[in-house]
Amino acid sequence: MNQAPLDFDVIILGSGPAGLQAAVHAARAKAAVAVLGRMKRSSLYKAHVENYCCMDTTLNGAEILEQGKLQAEKFGARFFEMDVMSLNRDEKGRFVLGLESGETLTAWALILAMGVSRNRLNVPGEKELLGKGVSYCVECDANFFRNESVVVAGNESAACAGALHLLLVAREVHLVYGQLAVDEHLQYQVENSGIQRHPGAKIKEILGSSAVEGVLLDNGERIEATGVFIELGAKGALELATKLGVTLDPDSMKYVEVTRKQETNVAGVFAAGDICGPPWQMAKAVGEGCVAGMEAANYAKKERAKQDG
Ligand SMILES: Cc1cc2nc3c(=O)[nH]c(=O)nc-3n(C[C@H](O)[C@H](O)[C@H](O)COP(=O)(O)OP(=O)(O)OC[C@H]3O[C@@H](n4cnc5c(N)ncnc54)[C@H](O)[C@@H]3O)c2cc1C
Repeated sequence: MNQAPLDFDVIILGSGPAGLQAAVHAARAKAAVAVLGRMKRSSLYKAHVENYCCMDTTLNGAEILEQGKLQAEKFGARFFEMDVMSLNRDEKGRFVLGLESGETLTAWALILAMGVSRNRLNVPGEKELLGKGVSYCVECDANFFRNESVVVAGNESAACAGALHLLLVAREVHLVYGQLAVDEHLQYQVENSGIQRHPGAKIKEILGSSAVEGVLLDNGERIEATGVFIELGAKGALELATKLGVTLDPDSMKYVEVTRKQETNVAGVFAAGDICGPPWQMAKAVGEGCVAGMEAANYAKKERAKQDG
């Protein structure tokens, strides 16, 4: 798709409570705001919350997220219900984001509010063969499987993008999924590639004793492979963040390190919510989102003013 990029001041990755609160504050500060991500993928979507200040009732996660979206839209934020697939910077220092749909968005500031991944297959062999052929990161480990046969598990953007990437190095790429849940552009790319698809199937067991030898599917089929990539959910938050040069908290090496202004070490990149570490609480996500939204709007305005001379 060769459309002109859509320009914003602030782009927020994630439409959970951190991203929504950031959107409300950035949009009210008169920034042009885009919000990416799928509400149904927020940790809050299926939760029932009884510990949110001033709300002495049981809140339904899906309902509050929907309210938050309407509120942010009222202040001018624009929503793109899809994942970001690539993140780069242009010569002016703007962030350039490639979406699942093939569209390109640009912005002066970014807020990372992608939550945390809790995605495991929980099948025999997964824990035992981790690092012996089982991997959770295509971009980190693809090169170990040059000319080998590999299996990718997952039905969303992470799995599809991962399988397409693996086609460049592996001899055979198998994608095991129930039903694809991606934008039609990405689905088309997968269906018209050399990926061997196994729709409607699940991995029942990862086979091998000292290294991966293959997988057994729930339909009885066995696939010979030396690598199994578990890529459930959206394209990895940390993968995208670290590609930008964002540093992680040195103790956990799992969460983005931020200042009290929710700034990361990369100018113009802010982070909020679960991606910054525990406690996993809506109240924390919302508080951090508020600060990130205001700071990012401020930063973007200054950068735009510098460019305008
Ligand atoms: C079962 C359960 C019960 C819970 N109960 C409570 C409770 O009672 N009280 C409480 O305070 N908290 C509770 N929590 C925790 C709370 O839900 C989280 O702390 C909160 O949702 C974190 O918000 P977040 O915005 O950081 O991330 P999330 O809400 O997880 O949102 C992440 C967003 O990022 C998006 N995203 C991910 N990758 C990409 C990508 N590549 N491109 C674009 N977007 C992307 C997703 O689509 C999603 O929209 C519960 C959580 C669970 C799982």
